[in-house]
Amino acid sequence: MKPRRGYHRVALSDVDPGPPQVRRRHGSSAPQGQLPQTSRPNWLDSDRPREACGVVGVYAPGDDVANVAYFGLFALQHRGQESAGIATADGRNMVLHTAMGLVAQAFRGEDLDRLTGHIAIGHTRYSTTGAPKRSNAQPIIAYGENGLTIALGHNGNVINAGPLRTEMEEWGATFTGTSDTEVIAEMYAKAPGTTWEERSAYCMRRLKGAYSLTIMTKDQLIGVRDPLGIRPLCIGKFGDGYILASESCAIDHVGGEFIREIEPGETVVIDENGVGSFMWSSARDAHAMCIFEHIYFARPDSILNGNLNQATRAEMGARLAREHPVEADMVIGVPDSAIPHAVGYANEIGVPYGEGLVRNRYVGRTFIQPSQRMRDIGVGMKFNALPEVIRGKRLVVVEDSIVRGTTKSRVVKLLRNAGAAEIHVRIASPPIISTCHFGVDMASIDELIAARKTVDEIRDLIGADSLGYLSVDGLRNAVQAEAGTFCSGCFTGKYPIPVQLEMNKMEFEEAPRPTTRPARTEPPATLWI
Ligand code: SF4
Repeated sequence: MKPRRGYHRVALSDVDPGPPQVRRRHGSSAPQGQLPQTSRPNWLDSDRPREACGVVGVYAPGDDVANVAYFGLFALQHRGQESAGIATADGRNMVLHTAMGLVAQAFRGEDLDRLTGHIAIGHTRYSTTGAPKRSNAQPIIAYGENGLTIALGHNGNVINAGPLRTEMEEWGATFTGTSDTEVIAEMYAKAPGTTWEERSAYCMRRLKGAYSLTIMTKDQLIGVRDPLGIRPLCIGKFGDGYILASESCAIDHVGGEFIREIEPGETVVIDENGVGSFMWSSARDAHAMCIFEHIYFARPDSILNGNLNQATRAEMGARLAREHPVEADMVIGVPDSAIPHAVGYANEIGVPYGEGLVRNRYVGRTFIQPSQRMRDIGVGMKFNALPEVIRGKRLVVVEDSIVRGTTKSRVVKLLRNAGAAEIHVRIASPPIISTCHFGVDMASIDELIAARKTVDEIRDLIGADSLGYLSVDGLRNAVQAEAGTFCSGCFTGKYPIPVQLEMNKMEFEEAPRPTTRPARTEPPATLWI
């Protein structure tokens, strides 16, 4: 199923999944409106960028699509932990359920039982525009002309949502939330045109920024990837139907078969007639996929840009080793995300890879209001060192990125206290010197340590014997980027489209509201539409 310019429809039976296009180079519902304890921001994770959402869509007559979407969201939980939602349709009606918290907290068995039909879309959220509250949980419902009702889930961030929101209000839209996603939903529902090709062409002309979308009508499932392809989206076969997901790992988890990634600027429409695919005629060849998806956000078992992400990360580690070699006895990775990078580094310099740090898997998902004593204990709550493994050794400690630098000094101290003779920190990405505008919550520019300090100053601050970052060229080569095919704005300050220097995720919380707009109220957890 190749996307074509112009509308192209194929029968379901004509779509041959074929071999996956992978180049393996090496080798109970929360109380309404409240954020459950277990999903509040974690102070131990303040040195990590935070991803902004995962989307899934299922079209599978005869299957329990709500449960498939639910398990798909489980696989995408790393992309957002603030709220989750699923909408289903049976050809005539829709049902929507949203709640705050992790996927497992957002749905009880009876919530899933109410989500009937043969089409489902699901969403798991981390906020980039709009506060983490129920009225911003997705999918979002919007209404158009001639009885059109859509449910929409979004991964990314649209940077011109402000003026578009005003325009949508002039078109008669009323907003109950404060996210850019509601603007996108209103625009897709009210866009001129009668086909999805026309609607998508209109919206792609107007929306600026990152948007991978799953959209559901009462009888169709639609997948959209923005013309720059900033966030991932892929399609797979599921039984006699299809599945869309932010990452291929979600397709694997529900027993589907990965077909391919949705192309930048592509819209796919799935209904009883088959799968239609079309490209926006103005889509450029210069794409700008987020390079950070490869470094940290996407799971290692997902396929990005045709490559298994685990292999891409190992290649980053290998290039890091060539750029910043060091005499050492052992290489360790900061678990879990930096382990593939560390293995690549170790293989390249021919030094054993070892496990010198153990991660408490549960503290990362549990908010503990830190007392001063807990802050003093610091990163020891999240990691523990293995003195028997590292004592007296010259260590290379590989990490995927540094945002604020707050936890790295604690990791170094932990390893020194455990007896490491030398600690050489290696970062498998370039210094982060600028913020993200396309769906990743980094920190403000003042908080980014590399925006304020030199590499030597950061080395001294974290207490390492040496510090080395992967270069921008090394990173681009590791992901096999041709010039201009990736966004690397947070490392270079150069973005694929013009952006304002600082973004404000609470833009619509603070904006004065027209008196004609009804008061924002939290909707009920389950809605029948
Ligand atoms: S600025 Fe950084 S995090 Fe944001 S899309 Fe670009 S590469 Fe990704």
